[in-house]
Amino acid sequence: MPLEANVSCAWPVLRPVPLQTAGEPLSLGTMKTWQFKVLRRLADGEFHSGEALGNALGMSRASVWLAVRELELAGLEVYKVRGRGYRLAQPLSLLDREAVLRELGDDAAHFTIEILDDISSTNTLAMQRAEQGAPGALVVAAEQQEAGRGRMGRAWHAGVGGALTFSLLWRFTQGAGFLSGLSLAAGVALMRALKTLGIAEAGLKWPNDVLWRGGKLAGILIEMHGDMLGPSAAVIGIGVNVRLSDAVRGRIDQAAADLETASGRPLDRNRLLALLLKELRQVLEAFARGGLAPFREEWRDYHVHQDKAVTLILPDARQERGWARGVAEDGALLIETEAGMRRYHSGEISLRPTKPVKGTPQGGVEMNDA
Ligand code: ATP
Repeated sequence: MPLEANVSCAWPVLRPVPLQTAGEPLSLGTMKTWQFKVLRRLADGEFHSGEALGNALGMSRASVWLAVRELELAGLEVYKVRGRGYRLAQPLSLLDREAVLRELGDDAAHFTIEILDDISSTNTLAMQRAEQGAPGALVVAAEQQEAGRGRMGRAWHAGVGGALTFSLLWRFTQGAGFLSGLSLAAGVALMRALKTLGIAEAGLKWPNDVLWRGGKLAGILIEMHGDMLGPSAAVIGIGVNVRLSDAVRGRIDQAAADLETASGRPLDRNRLLALLLKELRQVLEAFARGGLAPFREEWRDYHVHQDKAVTLILPDARQERGWARGVAEDGALLIETEAGMRRYHSGEISLRPTKPVKGTPQGGVEMNDA
């Protein structure tokens, strides 16, 4: 049984074309810090001249120019107007720990929150913290991830300021085997948050995707630590598209969706993070008491392929066809095939819609194994 349900959460590693400015050797690390400093100033969506930015940040105008160029390479649209300076096409809500704590209200006391500009992977850092003994409910969020891991090594593209990427460490007294349905429960938490935002037409696709009108809106990556007898820890990584720029959208090779389009309004990412954490807390506490069982019905209601004809692509590239009939208590997908009801654990299996196969039963069956 796989203990890892992955969705790729890799941010695009966008490197500026190396430009050498007289007397200013390029250091990518330094440039990144500068990039975020400049981004913070530009986040209000107002014009800032290169000179004013340079003076405020102790940088040369050439360095400001290079930083702006990196912002563009990271997928942000920046207007440059001679005599006025630089301005973001749209204001951005950058992640801010204090703002998230404020939005969490009474829930704030339950979480420890770390926010970073640039990190290789929020899941990796959260897992390191777990191994060092960090208590549960630790949140690691980052503006930019460079080396996120995903299902089967696939990349998850995101632009700075246009996505929410974070990991939540949660500790369980049970063993790792108890957590096999956790990514589905996390999906339920995401769906509840979307409902709170008034977003209709969203749904879940087994095992780890949140879709809106058929485009992928968010993904979940769960990694576990601990042994089968317990206790155990789970790192729940979540990547949500908040505002997909054309540049980022152009890198995605399948239909994608973003929250601002789905909700029809700009969204504050700090408020969004707080909302997701509140929903996750509710769900994770209930999961710790009763596993996936309390969420199975709700998950079925959200599943975009429920009772539809699907094709499973197995790790050896074989395809299995049948009808999606919900999930078992351990999160296994139940597929009604001509040979009977089968259970599939996420592992490296991909689910796709398909046309009904001749002879496949149309109606429901007793799911006595579920
Ligand atoms: P599966 O059905 O097996 O889960 P998948 O295509 O959903 O397949 P994942 O590993 O879940 O694969 O997600 C990675 C894929 O998601 C990438 O290959 C890419 O097609 C797509 N993708 C990458 N970044 C984004 C994004 N920001 N928004 C939506 N989709 C993305």
